[in-house]
Amino acid sequence: MIPIKFWSKELSVLKKTAIQKISDLTAQLMAKGTLIAPVKEEAGFNFRQISDAKQMDLNFYNTLMSPKSAFFPQTEDFVRYDKNKSVLDAQCVDLKPGPVFLFGVRPCDVKSFEIMDIHFSGTGAVDPYWKKRREAATIFGYAFDLNSPADPADFYQTLGIGAADPEGSDIFMTKKGDELLLKAITTKGENVLAGLSSLTDASADEQKCFDDTVTAGRSFKTRSTCVDAKVIAKKLEDIFLKTEFWEKVSDACLSCGVCTFVCPTCYCFDICDETLFSHGVRRRVWDACTFTDFTLEASGHNPRTKVYQRLRQKICHKYSFHIRKYGVISCVGCGRCTRNCPVNIDIFSIVDQALKE
Ligand code: SF4
Ligand code: SF4
Repeated sequence: MIPIKFWSKELSVLKKTAIQKISDLTAQLMAKGTLIAPVKEEAGFNFRQISDAKQMDLNFYNTLMSPKSAFFPQTEDFVRYDKNKSVLDAQCVDLKPGPVFLFGVRPCDVKSFEIMDIHFSGTGAVDPYWKKRREAATIFGYAFDLNSPADPADFYQTLGIGAADPEGSDIFMTKKGDELLLKAITTKGENVLAGLSSLTDASADEQKCFDDTVTAGRSFKTRSTCVDAKVIAKKLEDIFLKTEFWEKVSDACLSCGVCTFVCPTCYCFDICDETLFSHGVRRRVWDACTFTDFTLEASGHNPRTKVYQRLRQKICHKYSFHIRKYGVISCVGCGRCTRNCPVNIDIFSIVDQALKE
């Protein structure tokens, strides 16, 4: 499992750059490896590989899709084969990622990587694709703007995550007026910062501002309710068979899977073969427990044919089963599922209602 990185104020000198000159920093990072950063697109911001220094845009609240695809792409080929040849001629796709800089990740999304590490590299079976990408990446966390209110869908404060928490990042960034302040949180981050000549040392005032932002982020308001992990896990177990509750909260659900695809902590996938004439690939693709055929068995039996059963699975997995198995809630309160659900289903209010049942 990738170890959790804790923040030490003393670790390194604070660096800075003028936001107007961010393309100098972008160009330097691109020269050293692959840069993945927020890019403005028609539907909203998304993390994309940058090919031109001017593409990166830090005027975003949060991205539409989470940054998980940097480590867990929506589709990924594992094996390529030729049906006319022996199975021994099948080629495993060998991943050798060079340095990757994942830039501008909000603290709640940084936290999601630690939760995903549990599944992909922390429980015995290690996914080499996830692990290699994680190890190759330097994460530049980026504080939310504390001068603007949180998006109404967000509730990361409920889950104990601050709007400017540096933990989990390699380098953490805050904004001070027209300047971007950058602090190394890990040794990996320190080495990267040391090689960026476009940065200059920040002043003592700017250091104080950085520390104050981190502290203020801890009391920054998002939607909040008192969620004790053990209490909610038990509560959901108690009402698991209360069908009328689950039917009521899932009444509008379309089983579209959007809430899963945008979620930074959803990790279900399917393995499928795709062939064209004699050539084939064995591929991993994202899946969603809200899809009608997610639990369809080869016999034709499907244990979750009803919408309420599937939404119940999603909520209970994140807020009950995951706690029982790994001790942590599998949700970081990023609000994406609520913001993007076509029928306004809101996981926060379902959890809140469940607590009152
Ligand atoms: S369940 Fe919703 S709020 Fe929680 S991490 Fe996933 S998208 Fe974010
Ligand atoms: S809760 Fe909303 S986003 Fe999720 S599957 Fe149902 S309709 Fe789609």
